[in-house]
Amino acid sequence: MGPRFPTFPVYRVGSISFRSVNHRIQCVSVTLKTAAFGTITVMPTAKLQEGILVNTHDIAGDAVWGVIDPWAVEIWRRIHRFPELGLDTPQTQALVEGILEDLGIEHQQVIAHGVKGFIGPKAGPAILLRADMDGLPIQETTNLSFQSEMDGRMHACGHDAHTAMLLGAARFLKHYEELLERPVVLMFQPGEEGPGGALPMIESGILSDPPVTHAAMVHVDSDQPVGVIGLKSGPAMASPNEFQIVVRGQGGHGAHPDKGVDAIVAAAAIIQASQTLVSREQDPVIPLVVTFGTILGGYRENVLADQVTMTGTIRILQPERRQPILDRFSQLVSDIAHAYRAEAFIDIRPGYPPFVADVAFTNHVGSVLERVLGSQKVVWLTNPSMGGEDFAYIAERVAATNLHVGVVGPGSQSGLHSARFILNEGAIGTGSRALAAVAMLTGSI
Ligand SMILES: [Zn+2]
Ligand SMILES: [Zn+2]
Repeated sequence: MGPRFPTFPVYRVGSISFRSVNHRIQCVSVTLKTAAFGTITVMPTAKLQEGILVNTHDIAGDAVWGVIDPWAVEIWRRIHRFPELGLDTPQTQALVEGILEDLGIEHQQVIAHGVKGFIGPKAGPAILLRADMDGLPIQETTNLSFQSEMDGRMHACGHDAHTAMLLGAARFLKHYEELLERPVVLMFQPGEEGPGGALPMIESGILSDPPVTHAAMVHVDSDQPVGVIGLKSGPAMASPNEFQIVVRGQGGHGAHPDKGVDAIVAAAAIIQASQTLVSREQDPVIPLVVTFGTILGGYRENVLADQVTMTGTIRILQPERRQPILDRFSQLVSDIAHAYRAEAFIDIRPGYPPFVADVAFTNHVGSVLERVLGSQKVVWLTNPSMGGEDFAYIAERVAATNLHVGVVGPGSQSGLHSARFILNEGAIGTGSRALAAVAMLTGSI
């Protein structure tokens, strides 16, 4: 039975108060201003469902965003003008900490230039929200009024927007701190584009005190329209593993190949054979990429090359197949070199692990975002990306998911890592709302 409504005239509903019981929202009392009886308080006995809070507190349409949205866009522009690289992000970190300080949000550096912020109740399983802060060594050519002022550096992957989105969410969450059912940990990390800031922040305790059980990150998506959030559950991003191969032969006159060992022919055979790892040894419905990015060797047209150096990347989606594929690659390269009387020296630098999004948590986040943003604003992505992401280290330890924030709209151009990349700034508000909704409404599932 639902709450019974009074039969006397009510001219204004005063306040409605709720409390949370076992992660359900219970309506405690409703204050009514009536013509006949003045102000009275009604105590409904019915236990209301979780959805009531969502309907009552319209997160996406809250008037507070009228203040937060332009403020967050301004922060994005400020960060965009001064991109910093790798783990060396002191200015961005100082800007973030200054803003957290102004908002009254507890904060500390857990590694050099890696910031942890904290909102909400002190105890209980926490949810972590992550933004990265580093740019790329690219010369910006957008001609934006706030384009990069740092020569040869650009925020071309949208990490400036991620930081602004998380600060927007943080301001909203601080405003409604008393409504938070669980602690919220804010993570502002350097070095996502390499060498990686997430792992050192984990090793410095970002996932403990309070213990984090769930985590969400944002990344701009230049394949989705602005206003839309894309979600992908299960295998979502690849493990990028870099390699360098030095093929050694024996030099000599180009007219007498039999008197030497041609490292170029051996290198060519290695490149060709490596592709059979993808075409002949990998399950054809599961992606795998072997790319040679550079090749360098030889002296002139009539000299046998005694050495060739090659570099490249191997992108793997399956955590359990990662080491076997890398081992098999090394063996194949070495065996092919020997078949051509050459020798190969192989150096593999394993990168971030594959990013596997937790299926149950991603589904839950999806249903929350459909309620808050509207179902037509949530897109389920079918294909994983072969790009890498060091948030994968967090996803190895807690249930985690990635919110792909659409950025295509008026004014946007080009894709990520392009010198011409511009996002539609409406994306910042969508990202902030999505992060805030995930923190407020996913409860301690
Ligand atoms: Zn990037
Ligand atoms: Zn990125």
